Amino acid sequence: MHHAYDPADHHGAVAPPVYFTSTYAFESVAAQDETAAQGGKLYGREHNPTTEILQERLANLEGGDAGLVVASGMAAVGALTLSLLSQGDELIVHQALYSNTVAMMEGGLPRFGIKVVPVDLSDPVNLDAAITSRSRAVYFETPINPTGDVLDIAAIGARARAAGLLVVVDSSFASPALQRPLEHGADIVLHSLTKYINGHGDVLGGALVGPAELIATIHSQGVRFVTGAVLSPMASALILRGLKTLHLRMMRHGSNAIAIARMLETHPAVAWVNYPFLPSHPRYPVARRQMSNGSGMLSFGLRGGFQAARRLLDNLRLISLGVSLGDAESPIMHPASITRARKAIRPDAHLVMGVGEDLIRLSVGLEDEADLLHDLSQSLNRL
Ligand SMILES: *Cc1c(COP(=O)(O)O)cnc(C)c1O
Repeated sequence: MHHAYDPADHHGAVAPPVYFTSTYAFESVAAQDETAAQGGKLYGREHNPTTEILQERLANLEGGDAGLVVASGMAAVGALTLSLLSQGDELIVHQALYSNTVAMMEGGLPRFGIKVVPVDLSDPVNLDAAITSRSRAVYFETPINPTGDVLDIAAIGARARAAGLLVVVDSSFASPALQRPLEHGADIVLHSLTKYINGHGDVLGGALVGPAELIATIHSQGVRFVTGAVLSPMASALILRGLKTLHLRMMRHGSNAIAIARMLETHPAVAWVNYPFLPSHPRYPVARRQMSNGSGMLSFGLRGGFQAARRLLDNLRLISLGVSLGDAESPIMHPASITRARKAIRPDAHLVMGVGEDLIRLSVGLEDEADLLHDLSQSLNRL
């Protein structure tokens, strides 16, 4: 919470000032020349002092050289792929990803001649068969949205690096308080700042952290002219505020989530629970190796399947029905219901690989543990 900011440089202000400016003025043409030649502050799409504090703090938290923040997590996916990949390149992805990232991989990148190759990376050996002379990068989430399952960063990273591929990990479900993918062999970490890092459900943002040259390329192409999707100074300030309590919040998300996972595991109406920090989970050793604790994200299925999931959600009182995650509140969602309804406006809408009709995703919030357990139990008991 102190990195990259000294109140002594700002009249003693403890909270960093929000620089609401779209552009910068100069006292002389010579001074403007000098700034232009050094890549300094000319215009708000490329530089903002408030935003730059956030970038430096995120890079510091992830243990990376440089950071870049953009308008949303999807803006980060767009800036990354469209800045680093070209026509003819191949991108290997894990077969299960956040639904809109899947849409980008299926319907976005192929239009630009970038081939996307989905692979089951739950066995890292599967990566080898997908690699060709045109492969440039491997992209995956861990934990994965919406299942919450984990992939082995070090094992996938070692195989990818041996083949000269860039390794990109979307770590939105963990946050740097629980997992630092760069320490396990990733080259670039991607975040939806909308989720845990801001953590208060009031702003969207995205980030990329990695080697200075790669981040500079994404800045000078992705943000400057490919997407232009900058984060506003106000959003940067809100995210800086949220970031101060990240560690405390993640401890509470994790302790609430493990209590709920344990309760679900023993409830007769529940068919399965996916929370990698349950010792019974098949990937518990991987989770322990690369994360310091579990986050608030878990998924589960009911014996009553699709219909029971809808009834469960309708009978909840404290846990709210909604699609975001990582906030103080506890939104719950049933992807199969949303996907069916979405077909009205997107006929190609489909459930992502590994997501069944019964899957319920819960983002366990910061409420009192007993209140959350009580709300879920009362609804489960009425099924
Ligand atoms: C939400 C999410 C994104 C997209 O982020 P936005 O800020 O909503 O654009 C990307 N990856 C994961 C894992 C997410 O959960």
